[in-house]
Amino acid sequence: QERLPSPALLSEEADDATIRPAHFDEFVGQAQIKETLAIAIAAAKTRGETIDHILFSGPPGLGKTTLAQIVAREMGVAIRSTTGPVLDKPGDLAAQLTALSHGDVLFIDEIHRLNPVVEEILYPAMEDSCIDVMIGEGPGARSVQLPLEEFTLIGATTKVGLLGSPLRDRFGFIFRLTLYEVADLVKIVLRSAAIMQTPITQDGAREIAQRSRGTPRIANRLLRRVRDFALVREDGTIDTETADRALTMLGIDSLGLDNIDRKIISVIAHDFGGSPVGVKTIAIAIGEEVRTVEEVYEPYLIQIGFIKRTPQGRDITEAARRHIESASPAPG
Ligand code: ATP
Repeated sequence: QERLPSPALLSEEADDATIRPAHFDEFVGQAQIKETLAIAIAAAKTRGETIDHILFSGPPGLGKTTLAQIVAREMGVAIRSTTGPVLDKPGDLAAQLTALSHGDVLFIDEIHRLNPVVEEILYPAMEDSCIDVMIGEGPGARSVQLPLEEFTLIGATTKVGLLGSPLRDRFGFIFRLTLYEVADLVKIVLRSAAIMQTPITQDGAREIAQRSRGTPRIANRLLRRVRDFALVREDGTIDTETADRALTMLGIDSLGLDNIDRKIISVIAHDFGGSPVGVKTIAIAIGEEVRTVEEVYEPYLIQIGFIKRTPQGRDITEAARRHIESASPAPG
């Protein structure tokens, strides 16, 4: 059951469409991925062929959907988007596949969550542009092969390890998106602020970038919050001080950690006498699913060297201990 988005969310989504990069040259960072894709697209166009199937993996908000849309746009084809959990029955996927025109892109987000019986439909579709469908029921049922238009599958996953090799091996390109450097996030914040016509200083953008956990989506979200704060409480311009005050008010510390990150660190630091803690225990302590801990919170905490995975569970580093003791922003 879908919840109705609040008006604030709707306007964020509208903003998102204008902020989302439409071409490779607007897409900041991930240079190697962009270059490989640009060459593959140019070659496919020269030969008049479709582009090989592509898999993007990496934590949420790094631009997997955006890249899929750019690929389709650069190829000059349409894109149909769906997600793994929505494709419940083989027929759901068959309907998507048969609706594609020659060269179109089918984008499946969270492809690691495809139902195995649905996933099997994908193998012949990816390999031979056909699907096997069952006609009729009971003893009279028979399987017929249905030809498809040639298409490009673009899959996105936060956990490439959960993808079986029959599926993984059918992708011609497998790209792993990594968390962004601060310098790239500064560029993203400046670009988004320009589109939103929000005055911002270079240092103001840096302050937001440093607190965005290496993630463009978070950078844009924090920018919107700081912009609101600047408009209501200050003169509308975002500088270091405005950004710092707004983000501290939101409970986001100098490294971009929020209350949940700090809770994760403190559970490991204190609750079990300083020994490593299993991810399930952490998930229960913060009231989230294991998947969320592993895919949303941990990547950044590992990247900044705060959490280590050990055979006994998650452990924290001395740096994390020091950070937690020194930085507790006053909640607003
Ligand atoms: P999810 O899988 O959770 O949907 P995602 O990895 O597909 O996440 P996107 O929706 O593509 O992420 O990106 C999130 C937002 O971040 C986009 O709206 C886009 O504006 C911005 N963004 C992502 N990557 C970049 C980039 N490299 N340069 C500029 N903006 C970016």
